[in-house]
Amino acid sequence: MPRVRPVIVVANWKMNTTPREAGDLAGRIAAATNEPDVVRVICPPFVGLHAVRDALAGTDVQLGVQNVHWEQAGAYTGEISAAMVAGLAGWAIVGHSERRRDQHETDERIGQKMRRCHETGIRPIFCVGEKLDERESGRAEQVVRSQVEAAFEALGPVEWPAHDDDATGGWLVVAYEPVWAIGTGRTARGSDAAEMAELIRETAGNAMPREQAAALPVLYGGSVTSATIGEFLAEPALDGALVGGASLKVDEMAGIVARAAVGARARKSAGPVS
Ligand code: PEP
Repeated sequence: MPRVRPVIVVANWKMNTTPREAGDLAGRIAAATNEPDVVRVICPPFVGLHAVRDALAGTDVQLGVQNVHWEQAGAYTGEISAAMVAGLAGWAIVGHSERRRDQHETDERIGQKMRRCHETGIRPIFCVGEKLDERESGRAEQVVRSQVEAAFEALGPVEWPAHDDDATGGWLVVAYEPVWAIGTGRTARGSDAAEMAELIRETAGNAMPREQAAALPVLYGGSVTSATIGEFLAEPALDGALVGGASLKVDEMAGIVARAAVGARARKSAGPVS
């Protein structure tokens, strides 16, 4: 059935904030971003989860984590599984480029993490994106297509949950994050990011029900601020943003979500996209 894709803003705090700071910041962001038309998710460090959950109680801002392990339990010192955070966090970033770079995460592991999320009812925010040399050599689309294909292959056959919730979208969200744009102050062109979003949906449609692939929310990530978000939300193919550095600033988050709310309302009045 045709649907309006939701507008989603995800805050990735990375390795910032003590638990006390996290609770305080989450409370202030929730108060400054009271826009029910925008799905808002905060992903603090694991140790801040309880403080942020308490700070978000009574608001409609949702809680996520920045990673999960590819197994649910076992001899993996220092790791945290989807099973451990299920019931606390509803979302998990998987495959962030900083983890691909620093923890050498492969597409296969990332697909396995998505499977663990599926088993525990957590919604993955699956990150893909090309490096600078890959874009400059004209291979950006090939790289992103292969990241999506390989992760879906490792995810394996899953029952795609009924996509009946227009307010928050289906089970999966993809974030297109060109690596050269993350934390650099450089952003992709809105039109380039939109083309990549369509390529992601088309590729996903080979591995999941086509109707749900057409409704797959695709976010842009990479140096998004309140000043740059507009270019991305002007693209009907893009459904919001994954925000790193700017998500630690209350004013920036207020500006980003306010702009996203304008886009969300325009989208609702324009009607279904698929
Ligand atoms: C991110 O962490 O996913 C990100 C996009 O970071 P930044 O907004 O700082 O570029």
